[in-house]
Amino acid sequence: MTNKQTVLIIEDEKNIGNFIETIVISNHYKALRASNGMSGLSLCTSHRPDLILLDLGLPDIDGMEVLQRIRGFSNVPVIVISARTQEREKVDALDQGADDYITKPFGSEELLARMRTALRHSERAASAAPQEQKYSRDGLEIDFDKRVVTLQGEYVHLTQIEYKLVSLLARNAGKVLTYDYILKEIWGPYADTDNQILRVNMANIRRKLEKNPAEPYYIFTEIGVGYRMIE
Ligand code: CA
Repeated sequence: MTNKQTVLIIEDEKNIGNFIETIVISNHYKALRASNGMSGLSLCTSHRPDLILLDLGLPDIDGMEVLQRIRGFSNVPVIVISARTQEREKVDALDQGADDYITKPFGSEELLARMRTALRHSERAASAAPQEQKYSRDGLEIDFDKRVVTLQGEYVHLTQIEYKLVSLLARNAGKVLTYDYILKEIWGPYADTDNQILRVNMANIRRKLEKNPAEPYYIFTEIGVGYRMIE
């Protein structure tokens, strides 16, 4: 098979690197390994991988710097691998252009799901396909053309802001969007807003969409990071 997608793993911890490599290879991707930032960057330029799994804590240069340098020449999807102690870096990485993150320790299914989402989003962007007209998932439908949201066929009344929020998340379904990113997208880069306004709107949305707003099914909270809508 020559059309395997290549995944570059930049991770200095050998065990974790081996674990990820096994998952990658047994799921029919090709794996490349780098154990520090500089060799990761060099493999990225020489092999042009389809996806990068990037550890933030690296022995030579910081994972954040690796990300910034990659973004200087490539839009390749990057999933950041972070430790629980790197909450702030994780959010920064997303704001700096990482596509997603995964927190150690993680399982193979979680990693594969993140990988598939990131690859799908990048393929969609590359093919410049027109944006999808509809989001549909388990009874929830959003018609982007008509700007109409229905739940089990029933019209759901949303305010303008609520609709903007739901459609932004739906267009990026499966991907986590940070609070800052969402605030900028909905209220503009100069708006004097904070997470509180987002939380209030999200609470209202959940009351309208979720059977149990305390245990949301459609829109998850990624604590300290942002929101992710089910794909
Ligand atoms: Ca590390």
